[in-house]
Amino acid sequence: MTKQLTLATAILWASTTMATNEANENAATRTSEAIQTYRQTLVIDGQSENTQPPHLAPVYDGRKWALSTRWDDSNPNALNIRQKMLDNGIRGTFYLNSREPEEQQASLASKLTGQGECSVGGHSVSHPHLPKLPANEVFYELVANRIALECLTDRPVNSLAFPYGGYQDKDRPEVLEGVTAAFLRTGYHHCVYAGFVTQNPFLPENLVSTGLQVVPGDRQVDAAKFWAQIERVRNSEPQSRQTSDCIFLGVHPWQVGEELDRLGEVMKKLRTWDDFWHCTQTEYAAFTKQRRNTKVERPAPGSFVITRPCAFELGSDIPLTLEFDGNSVRSATVDGVPCSVRQTDGKTFVNVPHSAGQGAPTRIDQTVEGVAKKFPGLKASLTFDPKTGNLSYTLENETGSTLSRALLTVSAPPAFDPGILRWSREEITRREKWSVAGKVSQARTGTYWSDGKHYVAAQLDFVLNGERGRLFTTCTVSQD
Ligand SMILES: [Zn+2]
Repeated sequence: MTKQLTLATAILWASTTMATNEANENAATRTSEAIQTYRQTLVIDGQSENTQPPHLAPVYDGRKWALSTRWDDSNPNALNIRQKMLDNGIRGTFYLNSREPEEQQASLASKLTGQGECSVGGHSVSHPHLPKLPANEVFYELVANRIALECLTDRPVNSLAFPYGGYQDKDRPEVLEGVTAAFLRTGYHHCVYAGFVTQNPFLPENLVSTGLQVVPGDRQVDAAKFWAQIERVRNSEPQSRQTSDCIFLGVHPWQVGEELDRLGEVMKKLRTWDDFWHCTQTEYAAFTKQRRNTKVERPAPGSFVITRPCAFELGSDIPLTLEFDGNSVRSATVDGVPCSVRQTDGKTFVNVPHSAGQGAPTRIDQTVEGVAKKFPGLKASLTFDPKTGNLSYTLENETGSTLSRALLTVSAPPAFDPGILRWSREEITRREKWSVAGKVSQARTGTYWSDGKHYVAAQLDFVLNGERGRLFTTCTVSQD
């Protein structure tokens, strides 16, 4: 039973391919790609002719470990923790709720993100006990929160912390299945709960990344205990690395006064405690997903073709790191752009940046009553009929410019399959109206699956006036 269900989840992404191409008014392409990729050519100087293709390094820049932090809940003291982190060279991610609409500049999410020194992650809209909700409501709590946080920060959100750490119920196995089905449709691909990722029969392998949590103490900082925990991670390195190459501090940003200073002391020592890549969880998630989905081929000596995911599929522009044996690589360029090169311990690490135009979005909005304020002239609508399973999306381009490389991702609530439908379109010209229609069908029975409102989310990624943008459009259909 369990195995079968795992398989069903695994083909969730692939099932986009198999669904029939529904009527669409003007030549949209239903895309089968779970992840959009592109190619680059890397040219190496000083590479000997016999060198094999490089490995993909598990940590950016060939560092030994990634180091990050995780702080939960929308607590203003998080700003003090953030300052302490930056004073001591530490970075990380704040997991926030989104109960009320907020003004972007004044929001905690925007202040915590700053210029990208830190990032935000999802923690659900209203901090409920997710196992107590029907699967459709879990989906809403997770995806609507991600949309709100992306709009507040103009940056992708790819990492999740479940409120109360709740994602299962030992007496009701359908809860883990439902929460996992909801998670897989939301666009998150990192979770701070390692057990959700490593001990979850409903989650396909290598799709979602996680980390190794060490706890300095939420209210009172216990440095001795903290250093014992982090030593344990390092001393059981092979087992630790099966779970993740990222160590992170957590959980709550409650430390004030002397305790905050003690936390600062821990951070100060941690900065250079090992060969760390100091990163946000967003960057680590993007780096890991990128590494797992990149192919490197060698068509000629000294030249490599890299097929890698577009950064908007990952959530961050973090470069890819290639690891060459030996010290013969002196310099490298990718499509003519220089790459940074670092040599250490008889290895050479080449950091390959994304191409211009393949980066993460820098402006993100959600349509309100059909209108996108941050993209004047873009109008979008989404409808869903739970009785027939019919979905339709329409975009009107009144921006005065051509919108290019459009990719539409529609996520349906867990009661329906397929969970994700995608369409791509090379160009949507000025004054053009682009419509697509799709169909999902009721996949599961029982009140756990059928209860709750039906929330459908459409994410449009595109390039407009040379800038990568993202526009969400959602619709909610109540039970009755
Ligand atoms: Zn919480």
